[in-house]
Amino acid sequence: MPESLLAPDQIPTINGGARQPLDAKTGFVVTDEFERFNQKYDMFNRAVWDDEVRSQRAQKFFESYFTDLAQFRKIEGFQHRDYALRNAAWYIADFTADLLELSDDRKEGFLDSYTMFREGATRQHIAPPEQHSAELKRAATFLGCDAVGICEFDERWVYTHNYSRQLLRDKELDLPAGLTHVVVIVNEMDHETIRTVPSALSGAATGQGYSRDIIGALSVAQYIRNLGYRAVASLNDTALSIPLAIQAGLGQYGRHGLLITPQFGPRVRIAKIFTDLPLLADEPIDFGVTETCHICRRCSDGCPVKAIPFDAPTFETPNSISHLQGVKKWTIDARRCFQFWANQGTDCSICIRVCPYNKDFSKLFNRLLGWMLGNRWRRLALWLDEKLKYGGRKTAGWWWRRTADE
Ligand code: SF4
Ligand code: SF4
Repeated sequence: MPESLLAPDQIPTINGGARQPLDAKTGFVVTDEFERFNQKYDMFNRAVWDDEVRSQRAQKFFESYFTDLAQFRKIEGFQHRDYALRNAAWYIADFTADLLELSDDRKEGFLDSYTMFREGATRQHIAPPEQHSAELKRAATFLGCDAVGICEFDERWVYTHNYSRQLLRDKELDLPAGLTHVVVIVNEMDHETIRTVPSALSGAATGQGYSRDIIGALSVAQYIRNLGYRAVASLNDTALSIPLAIQAGLGQYGRHGLLITPQFGPRVRIAKIFTDLPLLADEPIDFGVTETCHICRRCSDGCPVKAIPFDAPTFETPNSISHLQGVKKWTIDARRCFQFWANQGTDCSICIRVCPYNKDFSKLFNRLLGWMLGNRWRRLALWLDEKLKYGGRKTAGWWWRRTADE
């Protein structure tokens, strides 16, 4: 394990001490068994080095994002136009990830943090943390982020190592010491395309979410650097995004293992910026998601490979090396999930589509249902959601025929 990134008195304690109340708020129970995660064991990396996960289908799945597919499927939602849009939506994310991969062994945003910045200011803009926080949120919103929160740096969620897919081995993490806060941003994934899951077309919502995250994270990091402070922008690399987003007050943890936000439900992509800008951390929020998940199993029922647990949160993990140990929570079987993605040739968001929090909350009636999910009307809200067939699947043809103002 690399040396600690924080001074000893800054490390959040896991058993007792200052961090216990925070875990109570986030809903996680973290024990002595806890170990930080090594990026090598995430399913996308295992598909490169581990024979248990590596397969021709997995290889074709990765290639489908870059190549001119020789054969598109005839099934609606998996045709030429669907892959064309999906791969266009991924373009910014893929382009930035590939830029330094061969020359510098850096796959930025997916294995390594971003380095593509201008020099910042040499003199620091001095202000109280409350002012820096308020101005940073104003700036982040202006720069295109749909929601932004702040938490203290919590080393538990930072990977022990990065991974090199070029050399098939661990790399030292490239976070500098002394960073004190994390700015977490989320961007909405498109509601209409997600309604067509499973389809290659719906993968466009994933790619678009990531591409928007990159623009937001790079811009916010450059803003902080322009104020004279350090800022490291990160997408899926460097640390687990979901616990940081929960601690930053952006949402709660769902049975399907995803962040559920009040504004967009689970239909979000997350990025984060590690910084030493003096900031004020936000509080975790509770809008009733855990209680809803205890009585709703839409995602477990809807998952085609039954990768989402039906039972209560537990310390047990279905596929141990790819999951955090020592954290009591709902844990999806990441291997089953990934194999389904590989088999169908695109990512899957069925668990997002069917979740009752997946709504267009700009509509008044949906806001009412969202409010009911947070209180004693919860069961009625779930019943209505089912009766009104929210979460049902639309065809890709329906999406392509729609005009922007419908
Ligand atoms: S579908 Fe239901 S159980 Fe699953 S995350 Fe959403 S609310 Fe929770
Ligand atoms: S993404 Fe699809 S396969 Fe994976 S857990 Fe969700 S529903 Fe199941």
